[in-house]
Amino acid sequence: MTKSYEQLMEYIDKVMAFQAALTLFEWDAETLAPEESMNYTAKTIGILSNEYFTNLINEDVKALISKLSEENLSVRENAIVKQIKKSYDEMELIPPKEYQAFKELTAKASGIWAKAKKNQNFAEYAPVLDEIITYQKKFAGYRAKANENPYDILLNDFEEGFNTKTLDIFFDKIKKAVIPLLKEVTKKEASIDKAYNYQDYDVTKQKEFCNFLSEYVGFDKAKGVIAESAHPFTMQIHNHDVRITNHFHTNNLESAIFSIIHESGHGIYEMNIDDDLTQTPVGGGTSMGMHESQSRFFENIIGRSESFWLPIYDKLRETYSEQLKDITLEHFIKGINKSKPSLIRTEADELSYPLHVIIRYEIEKMIFNNEITTDELPKVWNQKYEEYLGITPPNDAVGVLQDIHWAGGSFGYFPSYAIGSAIAAQIYYHMAFVMPFDQYLKDGNLSPIREYLKEHIHRFGGIKNTNEILKDMMQEELNADYYVKYLTEKYTKLYGLD
Ligand SMILES: [Zn+2]
Repeated sequence: MTKSYEQLMEYIDKVMAFQAALTLFEWDAETLAPEESMNYTAKTIGILSNEYFTNLINEDVKALISKLSEENLSVRENAIVKQIKKSYDEMELIPPKEYQAFKELTAKASGIWAKAKKNQNFAEYAPVLDEIITYQKKFAGYRAKANENPYDILLNDFEEGFNTKTLDIFFDKIKKAVIPLLKEVTKKEASIDKAYNYQDYDVTKQKEFCNFLSEYVGFDKAKGVIAESAHPFTMQIHNHDVRITNHFHTNNLESAIFSIIHESGHGIYEMNIDDDLTQTPVGGGTSMGMHESQSRFFENIIGRSESFWLPIYDKLRETYSEQLKDITLEHFIKGINKSKPSLIRTEADELSYPLHVIIRYEIEKMIFNNEITTDELPKVWNQKYEEYLGITPPNDAVGVLQDIHWAGGSFGYFPSYAIGSAIAAQIYYHMAFVMPFDQYLKDGNLSPIREYLKEHIHRFGGIKNTNEILKDMMQEELNADYYVKYLTEKYTKLYGLD
């Protein structure tokens, strides 16, 4: 460790501390904070954000980064400095006053969004959303090099090396395969009866079963907690403090089950990161896409397979002996994989899911290409749902208002979900080749699977990017063909489409 590195770390330790505080406020806002708190807490958040900013962006840090680029650093130190330089280069271009105003704006926006959604009224949300979009366009403009598309800058923030050019190709492949497949599946929709899922399911029992499930898949309660929120999510202070949430509906059994497996997948990724990266800028998962690959690997590839349920379905059946008494394992597996075009992304099945993402990707592209105004969003949203999924949202709450992402200023985030599903399928074919994957699930022994993921993906934190991880793991970068193959094989079999 060189002297300059040590000096840089004095700043970075503070930056990480302010980040931890900001994350805790965010966690609180989503779980426990009372409705009226935000308008006032926003000021505190603004001040903390400003401290975060000034500890990261200053002449000292700038000089240290440039000094360190000529010094001999370890792989770990080098990755940390590279990450700081990246944030530095991004943030240096944004005036601190505008950054603080933007943070205050987004802190207020989630409350406005929630109210507008409750009132099914996009017009209440449109002005603040419009302000957020204006800021994001301006910020992207500050950072854009000549002829660079602002949306490409945002996409690259979530997934290094990805842009509209690579994603147009990626989504095109998926669109071509999924739209006709979903049409075939929809014709045979009635062949799978799922009425059992919508009976009355006691919430206390759901919580107990979900607690069991999170531990069964490997979420370590010594390093993590589970709370409730309207929309399940994962947040980490560091790899020994990982927080996930779940939600419960009495008339929907599987919603909480698959949410908890999904969020546990995110949590396990964070918990498995090497301790020598804890509370450093590379101490979290490497990207949103890689994160979603892990949550979806647990939720869909593992959690929706027959082998996974074989050892534990009886336990669920005993929990709800009345509701599930006539539901065999085979019936349950068909039920949890049933596909039907629907309005809500987070409740969508595995097959129709990527279409929800493609719609958002296309709309965000239009926003940043100035092809659409904020007021026109509901209309375009509804048109695209009709075109790709054959259904029109009856109101904005189940249409354009359903996601919180834009209220937080997150544009370019949605593609990560589809990238994640595609990576998960690619990893699955690889792992089924190198280990008795199915047998492990049937034996209720998930630890060799978890260990393999830790060894090849989790432990590196942000040291390697997505394509570097995939290449080192299986000698191939992200390839949508595996995802298309996976969906085609799975749904052809499930619905007997041959
Ligand atoms: Zn997720």
